[in-house]
Amino acid sequence: MKIAVYPGTFDPVTNGHLDIIRRATNLFDEVVVAVLRNSQKSPLFSTDERVNILKVVTEDMPTVKVLSFDGMTVNFVRSCGANVMIRGLRAVTDFEYELQMAQTNRVLAPDIDTMLMVTSLEYAYLSSTIVKELASFGENIDRFVPPYAAEKIREKFNR
Ligand code: ADP
Repeated sequence: MKIAVYPGTFDPVTNGHLDIIRRATNLFDEVVVAVLRNSQKSPLFSTDERVNILKVVTEDMPTVKVLSFDGMTVNFVRSCGANVMIRGLRAVTDFEYELQMAQTNRVLAPDIDTMLMVTSLEYAYLSSTIVKELASFGENIDRFVPPYAAEKIREKFNR
């Protein structure tokens, strides 16, 4: 069974993330979406909230599992019985960081490969940060995130 882990903050999941998840399900028997618990960032949503949103919006994908983790990503990937980690590439600005992470992880865990998936063009500009910023100004975010995530974001900003 081929398992891949897609780690990230997912604060919250966007249509860009969802596109990567959906495409990954076509390549692997199981895709574990892994929500990072102890991120340096101070997230808008708690870990449980981020996991819950991801579970709801991936309900139609039976081979997707949503879990949270902390510590080193490669250790978590191994504990899932996986040897592939997926990351998304939006633009060249992502490239340097992702390359550095992938190469570091390769040194730490030569048994695990990082697979960089190129975002679909229509989501290339999209980030959780931009979505939260728009929502904080009361802008409509329905085009950028799945409906359940939009509802939860609106609740946070009290609209
Ligand atoms: P992190 O804090 O680990 O970067 P994110 O939740 O922001 O976590 O992103 C998780 C992964 O999804 C990263 O590999 C990121 O490049 C990718 N990603 C983020 N937004 C998009 C998008 N719009 N399209 C495709 N991939 C994306």
